[in-house]
Amino acid sequence: MTAPATVFRPDLLAGQVALVTGGGTGIGLGIATSLAAAGAQVAIASRKPEHLGPAAERLQASGAKVSAVEVNVREPESVARMVDRVSEQHGRVDILVNNAAGNFYAPTATLSPNGWRAVVETDLYGTFYCCQAVYPRMKAQGGGRIISISMTLHYRGWPLMAHATAAKAGVDALTRTLALEWARDRIRVNAVAPGPIPTEGVKKAFTPPGTDAPDLFGMEKYATEAIPLGRWGTPEDIGQMVTYLASPAGDWITGSIVVVDGGAWLAGGQQQQDS
Ligand code: NAP
Repeated sequence: MTAPATVFRPDLLAGQVALVTGGGTGIGLGIATSLAAAGAQVAIASRKPEHLGPAAERLQASGAKVSAVEVNVREPESVARMVDRVSEQHGRVDILVNNAAGNFYAPTATLSPNGWRAVVETDLYGTFYCCQAVYPRMKAQGGGRIISISMTLHYRGWPLMAHATAAKAGVDALTRTLALEWARDRIRVNAVAPGPIPTEGVKKAFTPPGTDAPDLFGMEKYATEAIPLGRWGTPEDIGQMVTYLASPAGDWITGSIVVVDGGAWLAGGQQQQDS
């Protein structure tokens, strides 16, 4: 069954401008799709034009006003230029979704300083740079909404993911702190913590060595055994929650980290990815 892009009214976010980092692929594209289906104008931003181009075309086909901006969220100057460009093209920025991230499995004992830095700079520093860059505009506009995409792996700890778990724990802390600092500016700051969504990176983890296709039977088995709701998540599952938090339905929600994972972390899910 295909997940709907949105269950919300098609004009729910009419007149609103959403900026989604990492919006050209995976969960970010699902988020951009849901926001566009709820009537928002959408700017997607990441490093690679080959990710942005096809995604922008797909979003435009839904009738939304869409722009694509190249950015490296690890560089504050690049982030500042991104926010300027989105403001020029759309006139404002109402919703920021910090979704861009990267990680890889690595034993901590041999994780290089560069590997550590790459992940923490993308996931945590990048989130901070983007929040700081949109703040003056949102404040001047009389408010805004920031939603960062976190994870659940740091709730228990996750071997081979020291960089990402540390970075996302930082994202959660930043979310709560900015929620308090910026509440009087009417900027709501929340996070969504997805469970397992079979984007390219996750499929790779299920691809047996020496082959180039994921083990679909293993993936199905994993979903039924490790996820209480019995299925993998979809990018749109995350998009719906982001849309909710971005909409007036979330008007009294700030500083929350909403888990959207089919019950997986509570049940100790995702373990099989490491085996
Ligand atoms: P993905 O497809 O690899 O998405 C990562 C995106 O970030 C890509 O579009 C990439 O685009 C962009 N990006 C990476 N480094 C960047 C940089 N330095 N500057 C700008 N953009 C950058 O992975 P995903 O699974 O959809 O993940 C999306 C978010 O969900 C991440 O925050 C991830 O931690 C979180 N999450 C995913 C899962 C899951 O099961 N999939 C579970 C929990 C949390 P470019 O390559 O074009 O830059």
